[in-house]
Amino acid sequence: MSIESINPTSGALLRRFEPHTPEEVDRRLDSARAAFLGWRQTPFAERTAYMKRAAELLETEKARWGELMTVEMGKPIGAALAEAEKCAWVCRYYAENAEGFLADEPVQTDASRSFVRYQPLGAVLAVMPWNFPFWQVFRFAAPALMAGNVALLKHASNVPQCALAIQEIFQHAGFPEGTFQTLLIGSSRVAALVADARVRAVTLTGSEAAGVGIGRAAGAELKKVVLELGGSDPFLVLPSANLETAATTAVKARTINNGQSCIAAKRFLVHQDVAAEFEGRFVEQMSTLKIGDPMDPSTEVGPLATPAIRTEVHEQVRKTIAAGARLLLGGRPLDRPGNFYAPTVLSDVPAGSPGAEEEIFGPVASLFRFGSLEEGLALANATRFGLGASAWTNDPAEREQLISGIEAGAVFVNGMVKSDPRLPFGGVKRSGFGRELSVHGIREFVNVKTVWVA
Ligand code: NAP
Repeated sequence: MSIESINPTSGALLRRFEPHTPEEVDRRLDSARAAFLGWRQTPFAERTAYMKRAAELLETEKARWGELMTVEMGKPIGAALAEAEKCAWVCRYYAENAEGFLADEPVQTDASRSFVRYQPLGAVLAVMPWNFPFWQVFRFAAPALMAGNVALLKHASNVPQCALAIQEIFQHAGFPEGTFQTLLIGSSRVAALVADARVRAVTLTGSEAAGVGIGRAAGAELKKVVLELGGSDPFLVLPSANLETAATTAVKARTINNGQSCIAAKRFLVHQDVAAEFEGRFVEQMSTLKIGDPMDPSTEVGPLATPAIRTEVHEQVRKTIAAGARLLLGGRPLDRPGNFYAPTVLSDVPAGSPGAEEEIFGPVASLFRFGSLEEGLALANATRFGLGASAWTNDPAEREQLISGIEAGAVFVNGMVKSDPRLPFGGVKRSGFGRELSVHGIREFVNVKTVWVA
């Protein structure tokens, strides 16, 4: 089956690609293996120069990359341009810090000299999603390449042009042949790749279902795997919070990337004393968001990436209402070309319904009320996911309780959850395991070698 690039705003077919044949994939795996033998020996200074050049290309040609993201998956153009800039940031961050993060670490023992040395593993396969089609790839590739690994990208099938553009950026930045390669293949061919001896480790950013599939394939081969999966993150609001800032941030947190972000707040848990006021402000702001062509810089919410995502979001909303939730806003696909879905607010969302239990990947907010901090914490943790939580309070004791009590890979207090190259990023529970970014991210795909000298 061919791999198609389709504009989600118009439904127009932009380009069609034939998937790589098994022979072509085999050739690229050989190329990766050959490239690793040289790349792992390159001095940091050389890797740094290429990575900085990649950062420059991301910045100087950001209009091209931004437009590509927007036409291929529908994110508003301003966010797409910012994504290209953020990719440049992560490239520079690892260009400047990788050598320090991976320097030998002396440890005092009974040896005359003992230390830890970090060494690359080889070819790392990255299976990536379409929602941040550049960022997800660069946040994997910058540390992996700086550590001396080589990269194979299997991108989501709806963003083949982004996948090829990223390969082009690394090539033009001067990275040697075979160090970064895109494989145009469907997901049914991933398990065989994971099993291939030339692939030494795997990283996935994607859904739970993909995580189970790839985790199983990697487990069968005893290969290192990092899984960055979905979330249904809580946004907790206590009475001492600044409600105006909390409500404005809540709208942004739920609708960023047209509602398709793993760390978007999805469940809004508000103390009963301030629930009515928060709800009023939130619904009002959700109702005035500007929906439209994502190439228009004033657009705040564009289309969902594919018709299938819109169908699923609507099904989840329908089921949540049927289970007893109240519809405060939206709740329907928009009657216009493209995969547009109305910003939607559901309240009194019952336990067991999709709005409470599942990840809804669209501009749909589920509101809940609680009476005490303990009750709020229990609600926040009543999910199989645990990616990033946002907690709003100006009470120091409450803040400490929330930081310690929330089961998630990150807690942001009085702010929206976001990724930052300097901070580790990842989840617990069914949001996955392993970390990306910061010193923790670059040490995922290395051999932590113990050296002991008598
Ligand atoms: P997806 O359907 O899981 O696809 C992600 C990638 O995995 C694609 O390249 C896809 O290929 C591949 N894939 C899907 N099923 C597979 C399988 N069984 N075996 C091997 N590969 C498989 O997810 P998505 O719809 O693109 O992205 C949305 C999901 O990603 C959401 O759940 C979101 O929360 C999560 N996400 C998590 C993070 C994080 O950092 N934790 C960040 C962003 C997104 P095809 O496209 O060819 O099917």
